[in-house]
Amino acid sequence: MGSLVKSYFASQKNLAPDKIFHLTVAPCYDRKMEALREDYYTELFDCRDIDCVLTSGEVMQIMEQRNVSVKEVEESSLENVFGGTTCQFVRHEGTSSDGYLAHVFRHAAKELFSMEVQEITYKTIKNKDFQEVCLEKDGETVLRFAAAYGFRNIQNMVLKLRKGKFHYHFVEVLACPGGCLNGKGQAQSVDGKPERAELQEMEALFTQVPVQSPESNPHIQELYTSWLEGAESQKSRETLHTKYVSAPSSTARVDMKW
Ligand code: SF4
Repeated sequence: MGSLVKSYFASQKNLAPDKIFHLTVAPCYDRKMEALREDYYTELFDCRDIDCVLTSGEVMQIMEQRNVSVKEVEESSLENVFGGTTCQFVRHEGTSSDGYLAHVFRHAAKELFSMEVQEITYKTIKNKDFQEVCLEKDGETVLRFAAAYGFRNIQNMVLKLRKGKFHYHFVEVLACPGGCLNGKGQAQSVDGKPERAELQEMEALFTQVPVQSPESNPHIQELYTSWLEGAESQKSRETLHTKYVSAPSSTARVDMKW
């Protein structure tokens, strides 16, 4: 999103990227480190894709310090950074922060096996944060995907990978058990623990947001054709794709046994 704000949105507004201050509200503190990655920097304008990251909990703190309540803030409509006059708040399929698995699974089933998947069935393997989704064709399992959330499940996954005993085509990995709604930057109770009731309320609210796939979102399709020169173009890769870079040892957890 940061690269789109500083490229597409800047061009729409006839602004140089360094004339835009991009603030992101995120569910965790890790996003602050992520925003500092080298590939999120444009040398030409000496500017970052994201200038500041605040967690949702920090936004709450600022509001509390200033005695501002959400109930008192005047509602305003969302601005559509992709052009057009209207903007609807939509989400991808799935709960919380997941959804990549479902999207990639459907796409792979269609492209590789000419199968249209309507309903995705998750099978709980060890706990609700480790689930499996399989595609069968002619009695044979042709796709095997997994969702592994939380460090306990990720650690088990890495150990099994090292032993060559983790046989999945795709794994959706999220650091927080339960996903981003349970992120450490989210609202917490006074004793610092995530409030279970609050979390359930957030999950319920999240499910009420309408689902829209990228393929059926006209603004995203327009963005691909008018700005990114197609989904497979060099520009798309440079703008939207990233790659794994190992963290410097100073930021890695030395007490963690993988
Ligand atoms: S799963 Fe947790 S660590 Fe990962 S992006 Fe979401 S809130 Fe941040």
